Amino acid sequence: MKIDFTQFDSLFSVMEYFTTDQICKQAIAQSRWSDGDVVCPYCGSHHCHLCKDGRYLCKHCNHKFNVTVGTIFENTKISLRKWFIAMYLISSHKKGIASHQLARDIKVTQKTAWFILHKVRTLYGQTVNELSGEVECDEAYIGGREKNKHESKKTEGTQGRSTKTKTPVFGMIERGGKLVAKKVKNTKGNTLSPIIRQIVKPGSRIFTDEFIGYHSLYDSEYTHAIVHHNAKEFVVGDAYTNSIEGFWGQLKRSIFGIYHFVSAKYLQRYVDEAVFRYNTRDDKESVRFMEMFGRSLNVVRYDKVKKVA
Ligand SMILES: [Zn+2]
Repeated sequence: MKIDFTQFDSLFSVMEYFTTDQICKQAIAQSRWSDGDVVCPYCGSHHCHLCKDGRYLCKHCNHKFNVTVGTIFENTKISLRKWFIAMYLISSHKKGIASHQLARDIKVTQKTAWFILHKVRTLYGQTVNELSGEVECDEAYIGGREKNKHESKKTEGTQGRSTKTKTPVFGMIERGGKLVAKKVKNTKGNTLSPIIRQIVKPGSRIFTDEFIGYHSLYDSEYTHAIVHHNAKEFVVGDAYTNSIEGFWGQLKRSIFGIYHFVSAKYLQRYVDEAVFRYNTRDDKESVRFMEMFGRSLNVVRYDKVKKVA
């Protein structure tokens, strides 16, 4: 019997259902192996049976495994109840949750909360691969807040589009629809245009500012409308980029307001998290929790599970 995730519309209902780690394990087993058809995570065989110690034995490759192998919960020392409650909290906080807050909420150390947040953040990989209709494209520069630095540590010319201390992120948003955003090495035309062509369907209307990185869109398979920011012409008819700019505001607020600092190395994960929140903004709490739960079980593919002797 599969769990009905629509019941998890509040923290209370999550805590009321998942009262023991055993129930959490049952939920994982039911969700990853429907109808009790246990699949070996090492060889993919269906010939597995449940042992007395609660683990499974594969009759094909002889591996013994527990229900969490290949999920983000593998080898965890943290109670599964705390993981589940954390996933609910993380997915329901619209602006994200800081590690010290999560630590207090689920009674773990800040280090453990940081670890959980980091693991969960790996689940946000973007799944949208096509945008169409009216699509706004824009870039943002994230990182090194120069105004908070000591005068002697400031880098010359780091405002706006400078990449000396900032990392560029490129975003595309379908008006009234989904968003795709990724860290890019630079914002030159030959970096941005392949990304646009990979994601945006030919024939779509694309809205950008007058930045040179978009010049290849002039004569292309797209209708290209330009917003002249320099001329303080922010809204001319439907030629605006307000939707994507609204997202940059959210991204920057979560990075600087909640996480305070993000290294360039992990920036994509924070962007993925913000994109997940944006793309599920109209979903109910229970739907976001179900989505995250499903992703938590599919972290490692069979062939990627490390073989243990
Ligand atoms: Zn096997």
